[in-house]
Amino acid sequence: MEHSPPVTVVVQLTDVRKSFGTLEVLKGISFRALRGDVISILGSSGSGKSTMLRCVNMLEVPSSGSVEIEGETITVRSTRGGRTAPASTKQVERIRSRVAMVFQGFNLWPHMTILQNVMEAPVHVQKRDRATCAAEAEAFLEKVGIADKRDSYPTHLSGGQQQRAAIARALAMHPKVLLFDEPTSALDPELVGEVLRVMRALADEGRTMLVVTHEMAFAREVSNKVLFLHQGVVEEEGTPDEVFAKSQSDRLRQFLSGSTAETRVASSTRLKTA
Ligand code: ADP
Ligand code: MG
Repeated sequence: MEHSPPVTVVVQLTDVRKSFGTLEVLKGISFRALRGDVISILGSSGSGKSTMLRCVNMLEVPSSGSVEIEGETITVRSTRGGRTAPASTKQVERIRSRVAMVFQGFNLWPHMTILQNVMEAPVHVQKRDRATCAAEAEAFLEKVGIADKRDSYPTHLSGGQQQRAAIARALAMHPKVLLFDEPTSALDPELVGEVLRVMRALADEGRTMLVVTHEMAFAREVSNKVLFLHQGVVEEEGTPDEVFAKSQSDRLRQFLSGSTAETRVASSTRLKTA
């Protein structure tokens, strides 16, 4: 399992389109994430950010175009109803264990303790040794700063702690890429910082991350690339400096001025170390 060649392209989308019924939500998205890239994905509500991210871990199947994870193209078949579905369940499992997702609503199992949540996929999906997984899970909980919550149930944790547990759970899969879909949007403002700081630490470790976010300070200071989606197309992409300081598109400028000065200052403060 562990002698992968030095592939540098971790995620590659090529002309990805996705329709729901007659609504075309993604209209030809292409981009790549190289190993160690931290890509912030910006765009107003409904622009297709979640759909795009969900195509990367096969929660959505593109209507056309291709998604590759470390050079492996996700295979898709047409169904009788004229839709698309994954061609191989084996491949879905393989891809899902390389691509971990952190959701806005945490999605922890409510009937399991935090430790059980973190161990669940490594033990039951990846079929790895239980004792090893337990030791690793403890280490990941330590890393996100909630080792003391290992035996608590999710409802006894604050939103920020739950989201950090969800990050530990994602890490436990040893994924090649981490997907975050608005990981701080459901949190009370005073809890956003603790999650952003964990994410910054992961970025500093060189992990490959795709992050849908409205936290402009994170996009500017932590990511090395920024994508701006507008109505299902990549309207602009570049380094944070290119995108924030030299944006070419009126729509992007409009979007950026819409996130008020107040929000940006708050966001920047939350990123500072505690
Ligand atoms: P964003 O994350 O940028 O807010 P989404 O990717 O969630 O955007 O949604 C883009 C568009 O696709 C929206 O118009 C949304 O209503 C629509 N959409 C998303 N998922 C579905 C679905 N499963 N069925 C029908 N329409 C959907
Ligand atoms: Mg969304």
